[in-house]
Amino acid sequence: MPRILITGAAGFLGSHLCDRFIKEGYDVIGMDNLITGDMRNIEHLMQLPNFEFHHHDVSKYVHVAGELDEILHFASPASPIDYLKIPIQTLKVGSLGTHNLLGLAKDKKARILVASTSEVYGDPMVHPQTEEYWGNVNPVGPRGVYDEAKRFQEAITMAYHTYHGVETRIIRIFNTYGPRMRLNDGRALPAFIGQALRGEDLTVFGDGSQTRSFCYVDDLVEGIYRLLKSDYAGPVNIGNPIEITIKEFAEEIIKLTGTSQKIVYKDLPKDDPKQRQPDITLARKLLGWEPKVNRAEGLRITYDYFKSLPEEELYKEAHGRSFPRAI
Ligand code: UDP
Repeated sequence: MPRILITGAAGFLGSHLCDRFIKEGYDVIGMDNLITGDMRNIEHLMQLPNFEFHHHDVSKYVHVAGELDEILHFASPASPIDYLKIPIQTLKVGSLGTHNLLGLAKDKKARILVASTSEVYGDPMVHPQTEEYWGNVNPVGPRGVYDEAKRFQEAITMAYHTYHGVETRIIRIFNTYGPRMRLNDGRALPAFIGQALRGEDLTVFGDGSQTRSFCYVDDLVEGIYRLLKSDYAGPVNIGNPIEITIKEFAEEIIKLTGTSQKIVYKDLPKDDPKQRQPDITLARKLLGWEPKVNRAEGLRITYDYFKSLPEEELYKEAHGRSFPRAI
């Protein structure tokens, strides 16, 4: 059985990756410090003989006994509210955490895939964004702690590839949604659905003309799997190229949920990117990958998930959902 380490295992993407690699017949080690992760996302895996969980902060030295074939580094706060609340941890997990995991990959002769982001493009001046575009990032703005940590992550990953011959992969993830997102992490989709479920108006920031392109989580996981198995070390965009304004997106959620609430407009946060759309030509060519799940279907599944959560979830703060009892 191949053996894989997945960091951020109790998070939204990490937990879906654990499911996928268990399904592929792997021995999976999940690692998480549970600052933003939630044990409930992986509770169903805890009794499996081929899954183990390590409660650990990867910005400290990472020890894993035995052999390792692959590493997926997905530990990081990933919503603007999180970076504002925990900026130093955000910087550390992208920089020190990545350094530790690259060292582990080198030591174990394991292949490593790191989760980068469309945020490396900042507020982009090129549209749609291709991998060749270097970005327009404000290093000292509110998003700088995330964006610059991820840009450093890409740089150190390429350095380990070039200087140490480590087998590295870099995915640039665009906005992704699906079950197990945190209802109160401040992101547009859970924010709108949470507001609809609580009977509140939907808060659109700015005039809502800014765009995003939303990818369903299963499509993203398939892209990650294919990239890991490829032999390409450069960054690859994975995301859904269908672009929508945030106002239209809020209107879709109003329709989906049947809420009688309306849209209210709030100030646009500083450095909020005006547009974002992945150019996925490279992923199509290299991996034969493109998204399959349309937004109506993906949003329906996600809404059903949020509706199934206990009512008190609706009123929780961004943090504080962790269940450390399983450790
Ligand atoms: N947004 C909004 N209302 C909210 C939350 C977010 O209008 O309650 C906007 C946000 O300003 C951004 C877009 O929706 O323009 C997507 O935000 P999200 O946090 O989901 O992702 P990111 O900005 O990191 O792409």
